[in-house]
Amino acid sequence: MIRRAGKHAVVLGAGMGGLLTARALADFYDRVTLVERDDLSGEGPDGPRRGVPQGFHAHALLPRGLRIIEELFPGVTEEMVAAGAVSYEMIVHLRMIMGGHEFARTPTGERGISATRPFLERHVLGRVRALPTVTVRDRSQVTGLMTDDSSGTARVAGVRIATAGRVGADEELPADLVVDVMGRGGRTLAWLETMGFERPEEEVVKVEVSYATWYLRLPEGSMKDRLVLVGTYPGQPKGVALCQVEGDRWLATLGGNAGAPAPADPADFFAWVDEVVPAEVAAAVRAAEPLGEIGLARIPASVRRHYERLTRFPEGLLVAGDALCNFNPIYGQGMSVAALEASAMRECLREGTEGLARRYFTAAAKALDPAWQLSTGADLAARDTGVPMTPQARFMDAYVRRLQRAASHDAEAAVAFTRVTGLLDPPSALMRPSVMWRVLRG
Ligand SMILES: Cc1cc2nc3c(=O)[nH]c(=O)nc-3n(C[C@H](O)[C@H](O)[C@H](O)COP(=O)(O)OP(=O)(O)OC[C@H]3O[C@@H](n4cnc5c(N)ncnc54)[C@H](O)[C@@H]3O)c2cc1C
Repeated sequence: MIRRAGKHAVVLGAGMGGLLTARALADFYDRVTLVERDDLSGEGPDGPRRGVPQGFHAHALLPRGLRIIEELFPGVTEEMVAAGAVSYEMIVHLRMIMGGHEFARTPTGERGISATRPFLERHVLGRVRALPTVTVRDRSQVTGLMTDDSSGTARVAGVRIATAGRVGADEELPADLVVDVMGRGGRTLAWLETMGFERPEEEVVKVEVSYATWYLRLPEGSMKDRLVLVGTYPGQPKGVALCQVEGDRWLATLGGNAGAPAPADPADFFAWVDEVVPAEVAAAVRAAEPLGEIGLARIPASVRRHYERLTRFPEGLLVAGDALCNFNPIYGQGMSVAALEASAMRECLREGTEGLARRYFTAAAKALDPAWQLSTGADLAARDTGVPMTPQARFMDAYVRRLQRAASHDAEAAVAFTRVTGLLDPPSALMRPSVMWRVLRG
């Protein structure tokens, strides 16, 4: 049963996190306003927009994320496939080389889609716009919070926004709930300080990852797989993701750890591909027609903010998406974790609004914890993160490396690994006796 939570909710930021949050809230509030700084006119941006520069690079949507998005917007997967997204079956059409080992292939029945980030966002935005109670206010910059402490407890009462082309004072949007989904630059930390609240503890894992992406048109029939993923590992700081995407294009993203900066120069780009991917895949890339320039990105760290540990937090405010926790992107988790958080918010609202912030932050922390464990665990082993490795982390690293080796000839081990990294199963699934046996047998 759906319980009404209030009259008006405002979601700040229309990235993937904001869009999914708006959908979750639409079941509980009479009206939802989605505020976005960029211009989203028409059906949405075609290319990567200013507020989401990472949209230029490969954006894997993990199977768990796709499942939740489909649950929130029934039929959207088929709609995207009909519009050109590439449908694939996990470890049938996906060639995975992890820890230097090429995984065995087997049907899993688990389907995914491969598309560019602007494409995914455009389709989800289309669905959000179609919700009768959601209004999208684009070209509108969030400038501040409205607060109300007349009841003795500090509460957020809305936001102020400045819309491009509108003259005069900032517009006020009173709201029962405000959700900050403004990405890595979310404003809640500054707002908490202004309101006299403590900042949450921050966990920072230094990653120093660099990306270089080139859109390519491959010669017909030159690649037999739909996705090729080659992961980095200790001793090999260079990785590659090759993804077939909408518009009969391929996206080639190079990912480098510290000491191996991903190159902008075409000759260096090809040399990297030659070094990392199997020869026939490299030959297909070399034969491709480049579409535009190589684009670069740098990601210094993964950052998790522990709002669930705060004892005081203003009412009427929540935080989601990258503003709550952002990840080393090489594991492709951000959008799927944003989907998990939107799901957690929905579940919490089903129980009413009493103690909402405390309940939501606890539920979101639980939902994102497996992804955080997986990505930071792998990062601690692979690079100098500034965080010491515990004996347990050392054991897990050695175990996962053995598992990756086993996955090269044992399809069940490959399935176990891909289900956990796809966030379908918890990391503890890797320690099931049936998997352990395969790992120990080697
Ligand atoms: C290089 C790179 C590659 C990545 N690859 C993957 C991947 O493969 N798979 C994956 O799942 N995730 C990936 N991610 C992460 C993913 O992009 C995010 O986790 C995901 O988009 C959720 O982010 P978000 O919606 O919280 O924030 P964002 O997507 O950053 O969106 C924030 C929105 O807020 C708006 N905004 C900001 N400030 C204001 C303001 N003052 N007023 C109004 N609007 C504002 C911005 O314009 C933007 O639209 C990658 C990230 C990077 C950097």
